[in-house]
Amino acid sequence: MRIGVVGAAGRMGSEVCRAVAAADGLDLVAAVDPARGGRTLGELAGVGGGAGELVVADDLEVLTEAAVDVAVEFTGPTSVGANLCWLLDHGIHAVVGATGVSAQDLDVARALAADGPANALLAPNFALGAVLLMRFAADAARHLPHVEVVELHHDRKVDAPSGTALRTAELIADARDSTPEVPLGDDDHPGARGTVHHGVHVHSVRLPGLVAHQEVILGGEGQTLTLRHDSYDRSSFMPGVLLAVRGVAELDGLVIGLEHLL
Ligand code: NAD
Repeated sequence: MRIGVVGAAGRMGSEVCRAVAAADGLDLVAAVDPARGGRTLGELAGVGGGAGELVVADDLEVLTEAAVDVAVEFTGPTSVGANLCWLLDHGIHAVVGATGVSAQDLDVARALAADGPANALLAPNFALGAVLLMRFAADAARHLPHVEVVELHHDRKVDAPSGTALRTAELIADARDSTPEVPLGDDDHPGARGTVHHGVHVHSVRLPGLVAHQEVILGGEGQTLTLRHDSYDRSSFMPGVLLAVRGVAELDGLVIGLEHLL
């Protein structure tokens, strides 16, 4: 399988380059990152072997020139939607880790994946433990509908709340029968109760030293239940990314959530 990485010089992209280069049966043949075009993956991402000689390109055309089968997208909220649509429009299967695809771009991508030869897998979190946390949270919310989500990330993260927190809130909202009414606090301190997504309060913490962490706290009569997942290192996302790369061609159109491949 011929693989390309978009956002190859970023924190996640360079980790993906190293993981793909080391994986059996996957050939890293193209890398795109306009901020670092012209330098090699060896220099930028510490990729060894032949793939380390690959020169990072400025634009997506290199993916078609290299006959890429699957592209992995880890750029950011301002570019991910357009990149996803471009990949599908060019018949390239897309594994998308960057969060923040707009509803409009998602509609276009869904239609391209339904009508064209390429599929897409979008996952707000590729860590298997986080996927399980989302599932356990939805199960628990059926019995304990009072739930708040606290997500904690490194201080360079651009978007807030995290895509994982938003997805967790949506799964909780789908699973529980009722949405508890809780006071929102006073007008002098907006935000004290976090943001509300699909009726679920979500709180975002940004601190150096953190990577990606999430707690789901459920409250009941005289009790609480806390579910927590911690990614201490970006390597935690790589088994999920490789699973998605290997499985995306077998999916039907555009799918959201790694759980579809577990
Ligand atoms: P980063 O800023 O370190 O890297 C992003 C890279 O994308 C940069 O090198 C930038 O130059 C490049 N880029 C920007 N626009 C581009 C474009 N149009 N084409 C190609 N490359 C472009 O960010 P990061 O920490 O690696 O995170 C990237 C994204 O992944 C964020 O949206 C983050 O929230 C998300 N993320 C997802 C998961 C997951 O499991 N799904 C895990 C961690 C982070």
